[in-house]
Amino acid sequence: MMLRTLRAVSGVKPILRKSQASCYKKATAQIASQASIDGTSAPLTALTEDELVLKNMVAKLANEKIAPFVKKMDQEGKFDPGVLEALFENGLMGIEIEPEYGGSGLSFMSSIIVVEELSKIDPALAVYVDIQNTLINALIRKIGTPEQKSHYLPLLAQKAGGSFCLSEPQSGSDAFAMKTVAIKDGSDYVINGTKMWISNSDVAGVFLVMANANPSAGYRGITCFIVDRDTPGLSVGKKESKLGMRASGTCMVHFDNVRVPESNILGEFGHGYKYAAGFLNEGRIGIGAQMVGLSQGCFDATIPYTLERKQFGHSVFSFQGMQHQIAQVATQIECARLLVYNAARLQEMGSDFVKQAAMAKYYAADVAQLTTSRCIDWMGGVGFTTDFPQEKFYRDCKVGTIYEGTSNIQLNTIAKYIHNEYAQ
Ligand SMILES: Cc1cc2nc3c(=O)[nH]c(=O)nc-3n(C[C@H](O)[C@H](O)[C@H](O)COP(=O)(O)OP(=O)(O)OC[C@H]3O[C@@H](n4cnc5c(N)ncnc54)[C@H](O)[C@@H]3O)c2cc1C
Repeated sequence: MMLRTLRAVSGVKPILRKSQASCYKKATAQIASQASIDGTSAPLTALTEDELVLKNMVAKLANEKIAPFVKKMDQEGKFDPGVLEALFENGLMGIEIEPEYGGSGLSFMSSIIVVEELSKIDPALAVYVDIQNTLINALIRKIGTPEQKSHYLPLLAQKAGGSFCLSEPQSGSDAFAMKTVAIKDGSDYVINGTKMWISNSDVAGVFLVMANANPSAGYRGITCFIVDRDTPGLSVGKKESKLGMRASGTCMVHFDNVRVPESNILGEFGHGYKYAAGFLNEGRIGIGAQMVGLSQGCFDATIPYTLERKQFGHSVFSFQGMQHQIAQVATQIECARLLVYNAARLQEMGSDFVKQAAMAKYYAADVAQLTTSRCIDWMGGVGFTTDFPQEKFYRDCKVGTIYEGTSNIQLNTIAKYIHNEYAQ
């Protein structure tokens, strides 16, 4: 039985099915409880049957329906509308949204698998799916009122992209030093300020906006508001011209006396700082998955060339100097994947995953830089041209050490945990 009406992109079977979702939940519970029953546990890379089906379906969609547009989207700096439509049609924009709201009703790990698979083909498109699922949908699902869920979840699952508006020109790593305010006026709030670096804001229909609604309380005044794109006073600036991830629009979003009713507060008044910090921990696992997929995609595109390319009468793969580098990179990609999957499984089990998420994002971003750089080296001169995909992966990976918390910020988090574990 279909989970919801999924019109598959021609030639690609609908991706998410209800029976798969319920089997998945059972299988996850089995994996989670196995260790306590017989003292063993499944390897982290052992996906459930349903996760495997999902992974293969997304890989097929990505290869057949997305790959042909990747270069064009990168050159033009925008997503192809048909590609975005395919994401919605195949249930990838509402992976965890419950079926009663038109979503696919799957798990957090499913979102991670989808992001990894899409990133093998286009990390820029993958971040659109990632932010939607791990931040926008997750916040509304977990802290929204019944009315907010009924209105926004079907919209997000079926036709509207979302943007997460935290950073500002003067507040990046120190995000809670934001200047954007929301001042109460009758039963409304009036938002004024400017957000910067807002991913997908060129195409988003729904904005989750962190604004200080009680500046005298400092960061404890930060409150999350849901703002529709067509709200008077909201305007989206021009796209930043970026090194990589060029198809994903990154813009300033201006709020000039943007009036929203009190009912648009998401979660509790003054808890925005908790939500931003908390949900970004989950988001970081998604960025880790993006970096793992990107690394794997670049590696997969490179190794066949090293097997075919001959120098000194032998394939360049055959040289031990090459083989050792290739083996080292393959090992590091696998380590990064294990960190990401472990953080995701911990999140699903309700265990503390903050340190593991920071490690996963930090390490996967580092591995992506090493992998893409080495892949270009292994290709020789052609790797430096735009005729091959390696240069795009190389450009796209750089942001992994910057967004959703820079690598230094991840290290700060990891160090904080180590301190707490060891300090008396
Ligand atoms: C392509 C792109 C997309 C983005 N998308 C979004 C989005 O959708 N929504 C959103 O809200 N934001 C988004 N961002 C913003 C992103 O999260 C910030 O760029 C990031 O948090 C870093 O902030 P900053 O750029 O102001 O750098 P800064 O905070 O100024 O950092 C500069 C340097 O100082 C270091 N540093 C700062 N503080 C410390 C410290 N305490 N200890 C050690 N080192 C430190 C940093 O690691 C970095 O190396 C995006 C950014 C980019 C580039």
